[in-house]
Amino acid sequence: MTASSLVPPATIAFLGLGMMGRPMAARLAGAGFKLRVFDVSQKAVSHFVGAHPSALATASAKAAAEGADALITMLPDGKIVRQALIEGRDAAREGLGAGALVLDMSSSNPVDTQKLARDLAASGVALLDAPVSGGVKRAVDGSLAIMVGGSVADLERARPLLDAMGKTITLCGPAGAGHALKALNNFLSASGLVAMCEALVVGEAFGLDPGTMVDVFNSSTGKSNATEVKGRQFVVSRSFASGFSTRLMAKDLRTAGDVAQHLKLKMPMLQQAMGYWMAADGKLGAGADHTEILRYAEMLAEEE
Ligand code: NAD
Repeated sequence: MTASSLVPPATIAFLGLGMMGRPMAARLAGAGFKLRVFDVSQKAVSHFVGAHPSALATASAKAAAEGADALITMLPDGKIVRQALIEGRDAAREGLGAGALVLDMSSSNPVDTQKLARDLAASGVALLDAPVSGGVKRAVDGSLAIMVGGSVADLERARPLLDAMGKTITLCGPAGAGHALKALNNFLSASGLVAMCEALVVGEAFGLDPGTMVDVFNSSTGKSNATEVKGRQFVVSRSFASGFSTRLMAKDLRTAGDVAQHLKLKMPMLQQAMGYWMAADGKLGAGADHTEILRYAEMLAEEE
């Protein structure tokens, strides 16, 4: 195999088999890649290998990395990615061969990613940041939007892998560019969701039907991803089952805020959105879906 061809049956190590990692790894298995999987949750690993017997369960990030042509991380945040790749016990770097390619598809902090890229390059390992947007549904059908940071050559090498998981693949710039754009995207996404929820709370108190409100937004200028993809499905129905947690959304807002601060830029609305989501995370607690932000808006509405 040449350095430019990560095509099936290349061996891919996959770390993190949660809400997103599970369906993304399943797409790779379906495309014919050989997978070596690891998650700190033994249950997540056995569940995945049970459903995809061609995948090999491994006992550490290092063991997953051994013999892999590329390694993908789909972990909660960049600190955990760094632990899994470099700083933790049995870290992946100890198992990776020189020339291997790492793709961090988690939503990590771009400033940390720039440092991670330099540290991995020192061992001959290239890094692409390749975070995704589209949620669990689009992870399942392989139509994610993927925002890439890194070199053109590494992206071309990784393209067959990314094609198996995503539909729109955009090179955003050098290392960290994908992670920066992802955090900023989620600032827009989170703000649109809060705006819809506040509108629903006010409208309902005025006597409007929430389903009718969402339908009208969707045929009017208030239309957004929140109104189209989350409005009736998860918010008005109160199923709150999007598969993306308030905690992870709050982390993304904090990342966007950190980037602005790092660049010494005052962004009052971003600052406010970050505070709003962090307070919501504290109030709603671990495990809350991010669409439960409606419940938080309802709580605030009733405050004296
Ligand atoms: P999740 O919490 O469902 O999954 C994370 C997985 O990582 C868990 O299975 C956990 O056990 C595992 N893990 C934690 N630490 C580990 C370690 N050190 N080594 C190996 N495994 C470890 O999270 P998710 O919703 O799948 O999100 C993953 C990433 O994707 C996050 O950065 C998130 O912000 C981003 N993201 C999520 C969505 C979504 O809709 N859920 C959409 C786009 C991006």
